[in-house]
Amino acid sequence: MQFKAWFKCIGGCSGQYNLNEIIYKCPKCGSLLEVQHDLEALKTRSAQGWKDLFYARYRSSEWPYGSSIWGKKEMVCPAVANENIVSTYEGGSNMFWAERLGREIGVNDLWVKQCGNSHTGSFKDLGMTVLVSMVKQMISEGKDIPAVACASTGDTSAALAAYCAMAGIRAIVFLPRHKVSNTQLIQPLANGALTLSLDTDFDGCMQIVQDVCQKNNIYLANSMNSLRIEGQKTISIEMVQQFDWDVPDVIVVPGGNLGNISAIGKGFLLMYDLGMINRLPRLVCAQAEQANPLYLSYLTGFKEYHPVQAKKTLASAIQIGQPVSIEKAVRILKRFDGMVEQASENELANAAAHADRTGLMSCPHTGVALAALFKLVAKKKISPRERVVVISTANALKFAEFQLGYHENRLNGVTSRYSNLPIELPADYDRVTNAIFTALGKA
Ligand SMILES: *Cc1c(COP(=O)(O)O)cnc(C)c1O
Ligand SMILES: [Zn+2]
Repeated sequence: MQFKAWFKCIGGCSGQYNLNEIIYKCPKCGSLLEVQHDLEALKTRSAQGWKDLFYARYRSSEWPYGSSIWGKKEMVCPAVANENIVSTYEGGSNMFWAERLGREIGVNDLWVKQCGNSHTGSFKDLGMTVLVSMVKQMISEGKDIPAVACASTGDTSAALAAYCAMAGIRAIVFLPRHKVSNTQLIQPLANGALTLSLDTDFDGCMQIVQDVCQKNNIYLANSMNSLRIEGQKTISIEMVQQFDWDVPDVIVVPGGNLGNISAIGKGFLLMYDLGMINRLPRLVCAQAEQANPLYLSYLTGFKEYHPVQAKKTLASAIQIGQPVSIEKAVRILKRFDGMVEQASENELANAAAHADRTGLMSCPHTGVALAALFKLVAKKKISPRERVVVISTANALKFAEFQLGYHENRLNGVTSRYSNLPIELPADYDRVTNAIFTALGKA
């Protein structure tokens, strides 16, 4: 069977564009494109057949199908030849059973999908493997692509740099100066990417990179390039597989540029269209109050939307005021009976720390999602009986400055309720035991 996919305009214009064309927006109306799969071809295999196939390939050593992205290649990007796939065995991230945290906040069936446990420490790997593989494919077909570039709040650049380094392709990353963590800055440097640190914010970097790419034949790797969405949508398929093909009730996703919430919705819709699942979950997008254009639009029932000037937030990867995928996200949220909630700096930091007390290790963006969950449970918009999945987007160790600042109680606007600091002592038996039993409440 020949599986096929192509780009089409999300605004509904006619026209199909090949996945190996260098095109990100509709040439007729300027809307974003999305990848459309040939559903009739996909339906030639039964729903059960797809489940069995994905299960058999999952985490296997059969390259490239052991990657949870490429194990679903027919539904992701059938146009790439296996020899051009650039993969780090993506996906397969743990579904953490947050039993203790759930009990403490009043959700009986709470899970955290650990998408940050990956090669470069964020879910961005899931989409970048598809994009860079397609670039390698285009270069092998003779297309002239001197480099691949992106604007980034830190994690996209890390993923782009790593995958390009693997493939021997030049990467150029545009970062807002002093607005990414040290670890996030080191990642593209270590992988040899040309790293431009600009005196602006993410939205400013985004504008310049688009201009540079358009005028210089450089390939754009931001999530307006919908190839990345195709990789990220496998989060949904993998999650449902982890629940033995049971659909969870609610999924909470932190949102910045809004590609990931769109991707997760797209994954569910594809499974639904193919009969692999028979209902859809509710999707919740969680935003930082400091960068909340989607939340403000939600308050108007999505009737109005205005970009905002994003303000400084600890959740630096979602400090975005002008999300590129706003239209896709709104469409998905409407289809999924979605909700949007926001979190203040104090709420996100304490939510992350609360979760950490129950064995997690949460980046500030995951903190935004957790805080949104806590608020929606308190408002009774999520019931205790529902199965809830929080998408954890990055490995917390990339944000050590955040965690240390939290525990030292020196984050602006945050009162650290769960601060835990080392007790400094001389190496003296009595002083040490005294400290231990004081702490244990038995002194
Ligand atoms: C990119 C990113 C997000 C936001 O994803 P979008 O697709 O931009 O909405 C959230 N958390 C982390 C850690 C990220 O790197
Ligand atoms: Zn169009």
